[in-house]
Amino acid sequence: MRNRDYCLGMSDESTSQPAQENPAAAIPQRDPAEIEAYNRVNRRIHLADLAISLVYWIVWCLIARDVVGWLGLPGGSRWLGLLVAAVVMLGGSVLVGLPLSYYGGFVVEHRFKLSNQTLGAWLMFQVKAWLVGAIIGGIVLGGLYVAVWYAGRWWGVWVWLGVMLLSVGLAKVFPLLILPLFYPSKPLERPSLAERLKELAGGAGMTITGTFNLQLSKDAKKANAMLAGMGSSRRVYLADTLLDSFDDDQIAVVFAHELGHHTRGHIWKLIGMSAVTSSLMVTLIWWRLNPFAGSSDPADWTAAIAAFSQVMLISSVLPLVIGPMTNAISRRFERQCDSDALRVTNNPQAYRTAFEQLGRLNLDDPNPPWWEVVWFDDHPPMAQRIAMAGDYESRMSKSE
Ligand SMILES: [Zn+2]
Repeated sequence: MRNRDYCLGMSDESTSQPAQENPAAAIPQRDPAEIEAYNRVNRRIHLADLAISLVYWIVWCLIARDVVGWLGLPGGSRWLGLLVAAVVMLGGSVLVGLPLSYYGGFVVEHRFKLSNQTLGAWLMFQVKAWLVGAIIGGIVLGGLYVAVWYAGRWWGVWVWLGVMLLSVGLAKVFPLLILPLFYPSKPLERPSLAERLKELAGGAGMTITGTFNLQLSKDAKKANAMLAGMGSSRRVYLADTLLDSFDDDQIAVVFAHELGHHTRGHIWKLIGMSAVTSSLMVTLIWWRLNPFAGSSDPADWTAAIAAFSQVMLISSVLPLVIGPMTNAISRRFERQCDSDALRVTNNPQAYRTAFEQLGRLNLDDPNPPWWEVVWFDDHPPMAQRIAMAGDYESRMSKSE
C-alpha cells in the first residue's frame, strides 16, 4: 500500500563474504506475528483514511453552494472568493486527516521501531509537505480556473495539456528541487560500488551523472533506491539505510532492476498511461464546470467555486475506479524488471536475499490479501518476487 520502489538487499548469514563484515546483521530479526500486526494496523489506517476523505468531500458537495454563497466574493473578486473557499475546503481536509496521519505516520512507525523521528521533526516534515502541496495545488487550482474563466470553449483541452506538462515537469524537478527539501544527500563514498553501477548502466546505454547517498536514516529505518531523470543520463540515489545493510552484490541487482525501468521505457509508458487516465479525469471535471465556463455573471462565479468540491470528489474516487488497471500494468512492469535484473546480474541468490532482507527491514507483508494487491499495490507481493528468484536459481543449478 505504501509507495515503494526499492531494489536492494543483503546476504544470508551463512553466506556472508569474508571481505565485508556482514551488513545484514544490522537488520533485526522480526517475528512473523509482528509483521502481520504492522500490516493489519496499516491496512485499517489506509481504509479509514480513504473513507474519511470520501465522506469529507461528499459532505462538501452537499453544502458547498450554501457555504461559498455565505463566504461571498470579497471585494467582488472571484479570485479572492476562490482563494478563501479553497483554503477553507483544503485546510479542513488537512485538519480532518491530521489525527490519523499522526497515528499512522508517527505512533505506529515508532511502535514497530521503523522510525527515529522526533515529534518536532515529524511536524516539520508535515509542514514542509503541506507547503509544497500548497504551491503545487495553487498552480493546479489557478490554472484550472484561468482555463474555465478565460480560455474559451476548448478550455478542457488546455487543462489536460497543463496537467501533462506539470507531471512531466515535476518528474524533472523532483530530485533537484523537492527531494533536497526533505532529505539531504551527499556523493556516494563507496568507489567500488559506484564503479560497478556505472558499468551496469553503461551496458544498458545509460550515463550516470552522479551517485548519491540519500540520508533517510535520521528519520526512518526503511530502505529505498531510485534513479532520477529522463533521457540517457540519470542520477542515482541510494538510501543510507540501504547502503548500511546491503552488500555490493545486492545493491547491484536492485540497481539492475531500476535500470530495467529506464531501458524498457517504462517512464514514457507510464506517462502515456497517465495521459489516458488524466483525460478521463479532465472529462469529468469538464462535465461539472463547463456550465459556468466563460460566464461574467457573479452567480456563475460562485457556482463554479462551489463546484471545486466536486472536482475534489472526482479526484478522490477516480483513482479507486482505475486503480486495479493501472496497478496491474505497473506490477507487470515490475515483474519484467525483476527478470531483467536476474538475467543481467545472473545472481539470483543476491536478489533473493536482498528482497528477504528488504521485507524484514520494511516489515512488508509477504502475502497481502488479494483485494489489497488489486486495488492498492503497484509492486508484486514480496513472496512472489522471492519465489521468482528461487525459480531462476533452481533453473540455473539444473543447467549446470
Ligand atoms: Zn521497480
